[in-house]
Amino acid sequence: MAQKKKNGLFAEYPNQYEKMSEEDLASCMDYAEDYKAFIDISKTEREFTKNAISAAEELGFVPVSSKKKLKSGDKVYESIKGKGLILAVIGKKMPSEGMNILGAHIDSPRLDLKPNPIYEDKEAVYFKTHYYGGIKKYQWTTIPLAIHGVVYTTDGKQHEIVVGEKDEDPIFYITDLLPHLAYEQMKKSANEFIPGEDLNVVIGGMPVRTKDKEKEKYKAFVLKYLNDNYGLVEKDFVTAEIEIVPSVKARDVGFDRAFIAGYGHDDKVCAYPALTALFDQERPEKTCVTMLTDKEEIGSYANSGAQSMLYENFLMELIAKTGDGKVDLLSYRKAIAASKMLSTDVSNAFDPKYASVSDPYNSAYMSRGIKLEKYVGSRGKSGSNEATGDFVAAITGIFEKNSIPWQTGELGKIDAGGGGTISAYMAKYGMDVIDAGVPVWSMHAPYEVISKADLYFTYLAYKAFIENI
Ligand code: MN
Ligand code: MN
Repeated sequence: MAQKKKNGLFAEYPNQYEKMSEEDLASCMDYAEDYKAFIDISKTEREFTKNAISAAEELGFVPVSSKKKLKSGDKVYESIKGKGLILAVIGKKMPSEGMNILGAHIDSPRLDLKPNPIYEDKEAVYFKTHYYGGIKKYQWTTIPLAIHGVVYTTDGKQHEIVVGEKDEDPIFYITDLLPHLAYEQMKKSANEFIPGEDLNVVIGGMPVRTKDKEKEKYKAFVLKYLNDNYGLVEKDFVTAEIEIVPSVKARDVGFDRAFIAGYGHDDKVCAYPALTALFDQERPEKTCVTMLTDKEEIGSYANSGAQSMLYENFLMELIAKTGDGKVDLLSYRKAIAASKMLSTDVSNAFDPKYASVSDPYNSAYMSRGIKLEKYVGSRGKSGSNEATGDFVAAITGIFEKNSIPWQTGELGKIDAGGGGTISAYMAKYGMDVIDAGVPVWSMHAPYEVISKADLYFTYLAYKAFIENI
C-alpha cells in the first residue's frame, strides 16, 4: 500500500523516490522522456491539439463525424476549433449510463500580439503584446522568446509562423533596464516595475536599403520580410493568433534528474497523462473521455474554452450514435449527471523558500504523488467546486487499491491568494468532479518545475480512475 499507516492511525505521504521500486523508477524515467519530447513540440494549444490528433489517429481514433453509429471499443475525437480536443473510447457500458472523464487544459500563460502589433522606435522594431493569463511580468524580460501561431489573409488562408525554436533560428527579446540606471525602477513594487505596456518584443533593427527617403525604413524591413516569407501585410495581423513563448526546451533538473523544468507544465503535465491514460484503453468498462480545453487561463470562455457547448455537443453525439441516433435533453442531462470527472489541473507544490504562503499541514510536496484538491477557490473557498465527501472516498479508495501514491492540500494559506479550474463548469450538471493533478514549483513562470515521480504516478492515477470508477 502506498499510504502505509502506523497502526492504521497516522496518515503518511512519503516521498516516492524513497518508496518506488526499481522497475517503477525505470518506467517513470521513460515516461518523463516521452513527456518532454511531446511538450517541446506542443507549446501552444494549437500545437498540442495537432500533435494529440496525430498520436490518436495512429491508435485508430477517427473524427466522430465520420461515424454513423458507435459501438463498444470505438475510438473517436473532435477538434474544438483546432485549439481544444475531446476524445472518447466507447465502453462496454454505453455513454448514456455515465462516462468517466478526464479534463485538462492545454493553454498556458504567455504573451499574445496586440491587433496592431508592429511599430518602429529609434531604429528598432517591436511587437506590442498583451499578456495572457496570470504572469509576473518581469519574468518575461531578458529571456529567449519564440513566436508560434497563425495569421489569416483575407482570402481565408492560414499562415503558420514558428520562429525561435531551431538552433539556427533567431529568437526574440524583451529588454530590461541595466542595474546601473535602475535606481528608481528598483524602488517600485514588482507589480509595477515592468508595466504590461512595456512588454514589447524586439523583432528587428535593420533598414530597407533604398535611396528614397522612406519613412519607417526599419519597420519596412520587417514588413517586407513577413511579406516575402509568409505573404502577409500589416493589416493581416488583426487576425493573428500569435503567441510569444519562452524559447526553451524541457530539461531535467538536478544531478539526480528528479525534476523537469519546462514551459507550460500548467497544464500540459496533466493533459499529457490524461491523453495517454485514454490511449491505454481498448474496451473499457465505461465510456472514457478526455477533454483538452483552451482559454482556462483567462476564464474558460470562447468557443474553445471549457464553457463552450462544443464539448457537450460531442458528448451528446456519443449518446445519440450509441443509441437510436437521437437524444433528448433529459436523458442527456441524466447521463452527464451519472458521469464522474477528474479535473486534471496542476496546483502549487510547497516551496520551502516561500513557506510562509502555505499551511505545511495542508500542502502538496514535490515527489509525493498526485495532489487531490477537494476544493479550490479563494477568500473563504469563493468560486470553488467542492467535491462531495463520498466522491473523495471513492477516489482515494481506487488510489489505495491500485497503490497510487496521493497527497492532498490547498492552494496556499487562507487569504494568501487562490485560483480556479474547469471543475465547476461540469459540476453544475450534477456530475461528481474533483481536482487532481501534478504539484508545480514556480507555477505560471516561463519555466516551471515538476517532479518526474508526480508526473508518472499522475498518469497511473488517471488510468486507475477511468478504469475503475
Ligand atoms: Mn491550470
Ligand atoms: Mn494556470
